[in-house]
Amino acid sequence: MQLANPNLDGLSSFMTFLLSLIQLLAINWKVLLIASFVIWSVTVFTRRGKQLKECPSLLAPPAQGSSCQAPLNDSDIPPIYHRPHSQISDKPTPSKSSSAQKNLIVKVGQKKEHRVKPPYDAFLVLDVEATCEEGTGFQWPNEIIEWPVCLMRWKDKSNLVGTTCQLEIVDEFRSFVKPTWRPQLSQFCMDLTGITQAQVNSAPNFQKVLKMFARFLTDHGLIDPKSGRPIQRFCWCSDGPFDVRDFVVKQCFISKAPMPPWLKGDVLDVRRIVSVWAVSSGNPETTTKLPARSHIRSLNIPQQLQALGLPAFQGRLHSGIDDTRNIARVMTELARRGVRLEPNTSINPNRRWNWMGKSGEVLEHTL
Ligand code: AMP
Ligand code: MG
Ligand code: MG
Repeated sequence: MQLANPNLDGLSSFMTFLLSLIQLLAINWKVLLIASFVIWSVTVFTRRGKQLKECPSLLAPPAQGSSCQAPLNDSDIPPIYHRPHSQISDKPTPSKSSSAQKNLIVKVGQKKEHRVKPPYDAFLVLDVEATCEEGTGFQWPNEIIEWPVCLMRWKDKSNLVGTTCQLEIVDEFRSFVKPTWRPQLSQFCMDLTGITQAQVNSAPNFQKVLKMFARFLTDHGLIDPKSGRPIQRFCWCSDGPFDVRDFVVKQCFISKAPMPPWLKGDVLDVRRIVSVWAVSSGNPETTTKLPARSHIRSLNIPQQLQALGLPAFQGRLHSGIDDTRNIARVMTELARRGVRLEPNTSINPNRRWNWMGKSGEVLEHTL
């Protein structure tokens, strides 16, 4: 009679199994290596394919007829990718305009493999038109006569694979504004902007337009209706720094209206972004600090569209709403290319011009 020890039997079977496994691995290690490589490649390519399907332009020009066109010479224009935002929280961001200008860095040629959270939920593109006379520059007491805004949001915010890159217009606001200091438009101003005397005569004044626009922001969940404070992260965008920094500050003074909290936020000068980007394309090194403003050729809206390889300006140049829509087209293209959309303009609501007297008064003798 043979006495069997079940524990020893189990151990020996396990050892036999382990030895067989080691033997198998030793013989077929090449096969296993190849199999692992194949599995890894399939995973990576499937993931990349999904990403490219959502942001096709990140690596290749879009198909002909697509609303986002390829640049005239893609090799001249390296893509600038988002970098990660570890500092971004879900709370509305406080104004960081002044430091943002100093810190704005464009990363060129950086590989885009990390998951990125966009810093803004929405962009408010604004291009005001204002009273003017021939030869009056930006130091003159212009009064706003058109207030057009395109609200843009990320179409692919819920994208789980990579960065967001599809920025689209979701709504528009437009109102003419009645000027009060010089209610009569000059012929030069009407010819420049296409705005008629009748349009401004029947328009609400600036304070009323601000109220109407605040309602628009409330309806879109961007501000708190009571405090007027942002409850979503949004950034103002304009062609040049003038719209909020100069026109709005001057108008608030003339209208004796305090600058609303929702207007004191971050401002992105789109012209500067595109003009710098056009310069950076000739210097595709890893990290490029922005060159001084004086070294950058300032591109107007039609030139920005051309630099980005987009179809020509649509509509009437210097019509506020048409300018705004074309700036929005530029924004969409910048987003598609992965250009980081950050504020780069400082706002000082208490800025004073030498024509400003006491409480809304325009000192005529200084003009
Ligand atoms: P824009 O956004 O370029 O259409 O211009 C905004 C505002 O700037 C205009 O409504 C005018 O008040 C002023 N402006 C633009 N170009 C001129 C110009 N050449 N001379 C005087 N004012 C101008
Ligand atoms: Mg403008
Ligand atoms: Mg304009």
